[in-house]
Amino acid sequence: MADIIQLLPDHVANQIAAGEVVQRPASVVKELLENAIDAGAATIKLIVKDAGKTLIQVIDDGKGMSVTDARLSFERHATSKIRTADDLFQLHTKGFRGEALASIAAIARVELKTKQEQDDVGTAIVIEGSNVTSQEVVVTPKGTSISVKNLFFNIPARRNFLKSNTVELRHIIDEFHRVSLAHSNISFALYNNGSESFNLPISNYRQRIVNIFGNKTNERLVPVEEDTEVLKISGFVGKPEFAKKTRGEQYFFVNNRFIKSAYLNHAIASAFDGLLKNGTHPSYFLNLEVDPQTIDINIHPTKTEIKFDDEHTLYALLRSAVKHSLGQFNIAPVLDFERDPNLDTPYEYKNKNTNVPKVEVDRSFNPFQDETRSKSTTTYKKEPTANWEGLYVGLESKGTKTQQDFSEVHFESEESTPSIFDEEKQIETVNTTYQLHNKYIVSTIKSGMLVLDQHRAHQRILYEELLKNMTIKEAVSQQLLFPLQLHFSTQEITIVKQLKDDLENTGFVFSNFDDESLEITGVPVSVPESEVSIILEQLISDVENEVPDSHFSATDLLAKSMAKSLAIKTGQSLQKDEQEHLVNKLFACKEPNITPTNRSTFITLSVDELDKKFI
Ligand code: ADP
Ligand code: MG
Repeated sequence: MADIIQLLPDHVANQIAAGEVVQRPASVVKELLENAIDAGAATIKLIVKDAGKTLIQVIDDGKGMSVTDARLSFERHATSKIRTADDLFQLHTKGFRGEALASIAAIARVELKTKQEQDDVGTAIVIEGSNVTSQEVVVTPKGTSISVKNLFFNIPARRNFLKSNTVELRHIIDEFHRVSLAHSNISFALYNNGSESFNLPISNYRQRIVNIFGNKTNERLVPVEEDTEVLKISGFVGKPEFAKKTRGEQYFFVNNRFIKSAYLNHAIASAFDGLLKNGTHPSYFLNLEVDPQTIDINIHPTKTEIKFDDEHTLYALLRSAVKHSLGQFNIAPVLDFERDPNLDTPYEYKNKNTNVPKVEVDRSFNPFQDETRSKSTTTYKKEPTANWEGLYVGLESKGTKTQQDFSEVHFESEESTPSIFDEEKQIETVNTTYQLHNKYIVSTIKSGMLVLDQHRAHQRILYEELLKNMTIKEAVSQQLLFPLQLHFSTQEITIVKQLKDDLENTGFVFSNFDDESLEITGVPVSVPESEVSIILEQLISDVENEVPDSHFSATDLLAKSMAKSLAIKTGQSLQKDEQEHLVNKLFACKEPNITPTNRSTFITLSVDELDKKFI
């Protein structure tokens, strides 16, 4: 049989390589911006037309290229940045693979103009589908300008695969943010279809963040600094109260390179533990500086994933640095409402000094006598006043309480550790409920009273329902009038695919999956259409944030995540019948006393305990 193996012609090899490096216009933007940075530019301009489908141009004032280098730069594996494989472990540049320009030139029309400082004239090269069509001497300023026109002109399938301009531009802007955030010592501008979208002067890091995300960002930033032998951390985290529903503003840079790391993201999330409202994600802009020898960037063609030698130490350092900053800037004490779920108090009460039970004593001592109250109500007072001492003198004479004791009286009793199992049987159906601060449902039980956290209780109810639906597979689905098209990254789509069967068992109907989007034609009856994307985003982030080596059950995680997203929120006012329904449903659950994530759903306060307060 004749020999059948042939070497691929260069332009074909380049096209194949381009498939890895250039997925979309934003990939070209990233490579060109990085080349300009590597060239030592102080000013970089990015110009795009039609979301980069027609034109992507990057102009820099960096060191430029000689005639020979200009020509060579389009060859595959042509790089000035490394010479031996060992150099890979001492990287101080963005690029090193020598593939970007060769790949881009294989799938577009590229016009290069470049000049070195010491030269009088520069070089212009036009290259199209890997063929050089012209090379001439030009007058051009110091630096390099590269225009990439008609991306994928010779690969119609790839071109057709591009998303709408809105989506592609979003990707470009994301890339622009990442690169410009990593280099606040370089000035960047972005022009889209002829108008200026961003103009970022050289500045400090904080100012760069503000210039990109708007003035209001400034007051939301908490600085994080940590300097250890293995790692230097600098940057900012967003205050917890400004955490977002989506994971938009989360940036990690390692040695000035944007990277994605679910593991390190988890370190930050855990530093915020207990400070965030359900379903929100903290913003962060963090730079990690590590010895280049301790990382390996080479594991992904687009270089957004890296391997660390000692991930566990980084995790611990990062977590403690962020925690420390949040604490130091007084964020944590104010919002640390998860400290002890049994003492969980509405925020409004946190700063009030006394919650003083009304005590019936000799009326002549009562400084509040013109206020009418019913005997058994609990009253609140902002400050302990001198008058109170008067009242308390009377009490002291009975030798029962000191003033100190009064100021420590809380709305929820410290001793109110719930004896859940006794209580459970006593709660059959509920007919008296009261909603407190749109957060708690208060109800009477045989032994006293019950205070239930509406969000947590509902999570438990939904979690058990969802789990049941997933296992018996008979959830009801509502058909959408128009299919819902949602866009995600390839990695995110992979996660949704893994959970597809379980999601379908809850009532989702998927009609289409491709690499970066999915189409939904049906949703569970309990899920409003407007919430679908938030639920999926939350789910993806929960999966990503799952501690890598912890026990992982997709079904359970999905049920927890959806329960969290769908549960009635704190702040939502509930009708009487809704309140009662919630209480009854909760106690029909298998494990009513805790949320799926092991937090108390309710506390009880017995008459005995109340009596003790009224001594
Ligand atoms: P890499 O960046 O991995 O080296 P590229 O294909 O992106 O590979 O670029 C090839 C080479 O072309 C670079 O190593 C660099 O020497 C040169 N080059 C590319 N862009 C510029 C630029 N804007 N200014 C100066 N030199 C550049
Ligand atoms: Mg490069």
